Amino acid sequence: MIKINYLFLVSLIYLFPINISCAQSKGAATLPSLEGKNILMVYGGWQGHQPDIFTERVSKWLISEGANVTISDSVGVYTQENIMNNTDLIIQYYTQGKITKEQFEGLDNALRNGIGLAGCHGGLADSFHESQDYEYIIGGQWVSHPGGIIPSYDVQIHTSNDPITEGLQDFVMKDTEQYYMHIDPNNKVLATTSFTKDQHDWIEGAVIPLSWKRYHDKGRVFYLSIGHAPKDFDTYEAWELLTRGIKWASDSKYQPKENLVTPIYSKN
Ligand SMILES: [Zn+2]
Repeated sequence: MIKINYLFLVSLIYLFPINISCAQSKGAATLPSLEGKNILMVYGGWQGHQPDIFTERVSKWLISEGANVTISDSVGVYTQENIMNNTDLIIQYYTQGKITKEQFEGLDNALRNGIGLAGCHGGLADSFHESQDYEYIIGGQWVSHPGGIIPSYDVQIHTSNDPITEGLQDFVMKDTEQYYMHIDPNNKVLATTSFTKDQHDWIEGAVIPLSWKRYHDKGRVFYLSIGHAPKDFDTYEAWELLTRGIKWASDSKYQPKENLVTPIYSKN
């Protein structure tokens, strides 16, 4: 594990330029600041997702926002109470892999005490499949990406009445994976994606959540299914969703808990 500082980041600088829009939306302006917050980034697992590059890019942005960033390439950090007790938010990008009972309990306790958890793609929802308790935290699991890398797919903003999505329009992702997921139907869904018959005709018209927010006890959980490759975040709306979700999830220690349970099934 390394303690990252500004000088370290200078060596990484400008490798992954961030796509900046000239338009600053209201949603971004009303989200909590990261200034002075302690953020733990945990990365690893399947290397095809280039977790180190994702971590470099996001950590550089976090530092620019005034956060204190600690980076670990092992989920063993979840057992280190001196770090966990001084963390506001965990950002995990760890595909597949395993988590021990002690490591899971460290993560679980962190959220129960109000630490947030944010992440994307397989780094949060294709992790530790032997742990149903872990899957209970996230609220959704990747099960397929029909066709693998496909030319394009559409993203629909499901609710604009949220600072994470406010001002964003529907958009298109190109040359990347579209996640088909099994979802907790009580998540508060922020954005969705719909499937065509191009890959599997039996899922034509299926609508699957692409981004959601929820709580695990006192801790905020934010998830976005975009993020197969670092270039995915060159798409303005994808980067906005990720960074706004990170900001929202960073504040659960400091704000009253909301009720985000949003069931979609009711008795007919
Ligand atoms: Zn992927």
